[in-house]
Amino acid sequence: MKVFKFGGASCNSVERIQNIPNILKQYHQEQIVMIVSAMGKTTNALEQVVSNYYKQDNQKAKALLEEIKEQHLLITKSLLNHLLNECNNKLYAYFSEIDNLLLIKPSKEFDYYYDQIVSTGELLSTCIISFYLNEAGIENILLDVRNIVKTDNNFRDATILWEETSANMVATKLHPSLTITQGFIGSTNNGESTTLGREGSDYSAAIFANILHADSLTIWKDVEGVMNADPKAFADVQLINELSFNEVIEMSYYGAQVIHPKTIKPLQNKEIPLYVKSFLDSSLQGTVISAKEINNLPPIIVIKEKQVLIHLHTKDFSFVGEKPIAALYKIFSALKIKPNLIQTGAISIQICLDNWEDKIEQLTAHLSTLFTIQKQIDLELLTIRHYTKDLKNKMLNKKNIILLQQTKETIQALYLM
Ligand code: ASP
Ligand code: MG
Repeated sequence: MKVFKFGGASCNSVERIQNIPNILKQYHQEQIVMIVSAMGKTTNALEQVVSNYYKQDNQKAKALLEEIKEQHLLITKSLLNHLLNECNNKLYAYFSEIDNLLLIKPSKEFDYYYDQIVSTGELLSTCIISFYLNEAGIENILLDVRNIVKTDNNFRDATILWEETSANMVATKLHPSLTITQGFIGSTNNGESTTLGREGSDYSAAIFANILHADSLTIWKDVEGVMNADPKAFADVQLINELSFNEVIEMSYYGAQVIHPKTIKPLQNKEIPLYVKSFLDSSLQGTVISAKEINNLPPIIVIKEKQVLIHLHTKDFSFVGEKPIAALYKIFSALKIKPNLIQTGAISIQICLDNWEDKIEQLTAHLSTLFTIQKQIDLELLTIRHYTKDLKNKMLNKKNIILLQQTKETIQALYLM
């Protein structure tokens, strides 16, 4: 059995949805479990609905929701014939759930409403694709993943309850050839919808692959495979045909947006290879990621923009020992802050972070009793794995470097944008 994940870009138009059968036909002798994201930018649009609802700008929330409804209904109208009404009825049922929710004034935390509303994107896309494939003669069943994937109630960043999820998944009857379900979402044991964090459907697909002991997971993307740098930022990027789990974990730790960072562990634990392939041309080889260690990789470049450097200086000139460091990490964990780089000195610590203003404010408030604090903004963090001297010189030439960290494998430089 194979698990496939189709992201938002693979189903953001009628043409792209009509391309899905071409891919599936090549695997018609296999049993496939297909995890699908919300179409195109639906998740972003639903986020706007929630924000406006939570501010109680209900008119705006409703108007935005109407746009989302129209977009989906326009797609079903072009895609479907004899199953059109049946599909639309199901979509209307999902829409009216949100309509009803919007009638009630919010009384709970924002993240709860976020998950109840934003999770609809995946329910809509999978419903449409399932009906379309059935009409196109590709028999399949559609499952509501909320009956399978169980999580805690940490809304918007829910943690998987592995035991319940495994038991449910193993007990679920899959279609002998194609089962379709949603990525990114799950539910609590009380039946509230939850989400796993943005771009979380890669992770959902890995959970399915792990529990079902799949032969492989394939993530179908609008790129040829994993590149050594962001093609939007660099002209001469290189496709990497083979990568190890270790390398990909490192790459995503440094901020490469290849695959959701949580995706690798469930695959690595069961040695399930991950293929990244192009849904635009499935004949291309793409990238395979597996346990095999790969040598002679090209330099891998990751750039994080809009970085902030916090300089902490002990107030009484005391050394930065285990105590302040331990206190610092406790605050990171409480505020869910992930530093991108840390440098410690005798009486100072420097922390490089993404520019999340509210979190940085909370962090500095917590630290102001122990340290004097300075903040430097508008920085960029460059990471090169497997750097060469030439590339390092070329990329750092004329940069106003604030901080540099270097190991045998990896160099990181923070400089003014
Ligand atoms: N639809 C969700 C998002 O856009 C999840 C995903 O695409 O993986 O973040
Ligand atoms: Mg996506």
